[in-house]
Amino acid sequence: MSRLVSGVRSLSRLISLLSLATASNLATAASRPAAQPSSFQVFRDVPSLRQLRHQLLRNERTVGFVPTMGALHEGHLSLIREAARENTDIFVSIYVNPTQFGVNEDLSSYPRTWDSDVEKLEKLNEELGRSGAPGSGQITAIFAPTSKVMYPTLPPSSDIDGQGSFVTITPLSSKLEGGSRPVFFRGVATVCMKLFNATTPDRVYFGQKDVQQTVIIKRMVQDFLIGTEVRIVSTAREADGLAMSSRNVYLGDRRRAVGLTIYKALKAAEDAYQSGKVSRADILGAARSITDQVLAEQRALTPSERSLFEVDYISLADPNTLDELDLVDPTQGGVLSAALKMAPLEENKPGEDCGLGDGKVPVRLIDNLILQPRA
Ligand code: AMP
Repeated sequence: MSRLVSGVRSLSRLISLLSLATASNLATAASRPAAQPSSFQVFRDVPSLRQLRHQLLRNERTVGFVPTMGALHEGHLSLIREAARENTDIFVSIYVNPTQFGVNEDLSSYPRTWDSDVEKLEKLNEELGRSGAPGSGQITAIFAPTSKVMYPTLPPSSDIDGQGSFVTITPLSSKLEGGSRPVFFRGVATVCMKLFNATTPDRVYFGQKDVQQTVIIKRMVQDFLIGTEVRIVSTAREADGLAMSSRNVYLGDRRRAVGLTIYKALKAAEDAYQSGKVSRADILGAARSITDQVLAEQRALTPSERSLFEVDYISLADPNTLDELDLVDPTQGGVLSAALKMAPLEENKPGEDCGLGDGKVPVRLIDNLILQPRA
């Protein structure tokens, strides 16, 4: 019976989608990438997506927008599930944005997995259609633009002094991640502004995993008077606590095991806060003692056994300004965040799973935990 209901739901949704956007279907059919999804449309350009958006608006439907760079995992899917609870239609973008990668960063090696992304989204749409939950929305559109669409006049520049139209949110962009990635948040804010303009969503969904991004996007929406609501969804983790990330495929077994240190260190700091500590020295000291200990253990191993890393930062900051805190005000709480740079493996062992790129790709891990205000 429930299969029948879900079949009817899918059919009626398909009919309504077809009637909503036949013209845009035709507009995009010729330029679709390889996999051909059936329960949503793929848009490579803005005008046809806008046409769909206007039709949805006229039909009093709501759009939740989930921007991604693809290589989708459960973390991305959890954002879409949340969007489905609050909107009739979900737009997901898949676009690896060049302007947020520094000139020496991993733009060319960033994982691109179009076919499996589409497959995951199709499956999720089936699940959402089956759920039968009242008001459960589904994915209606994937926006997968080319760089020419996103940067129509000047080519996308990653240079600090590069020419182009950029959105800069200061001083938030220069803190934490911005310390070692000076163009990162300029690129993120710029691409999100463009994506928001192309999709005009009722709500946008971002992961807690990238805490600084959430603070910057909220600030951008506020300061630029953008008519959308920003929703933050909690971090999806593997069973042992490692935050899911598209870049984890590069870790391999050895670096993955050592990379978990970032979560253990943040947890130790959180435990210190929860046991009543409020000073920076006490809270971050607990995290540092974990990273120092693991690093000393790794250094004592041979090159074919160890995985070396560098702590880029461990931070205790104000949740709104990201200013570093000497003391946590327990009525306000704080944000604990960290970045580890996992070095390439020095020597591989025969038969070892060293991850995509054979252990040679450096991997930056970031994670954070929110120190909740105490009652
Ligand atoms: P990305 O594709 O890495 O740019 O991420 C797209 C969105 O997914 C961002 O809002 C991220 O914060 C979010 N995201 C990435 N990893 C996770 C995760 N493990 N849990 C929740 N959200 C995530």
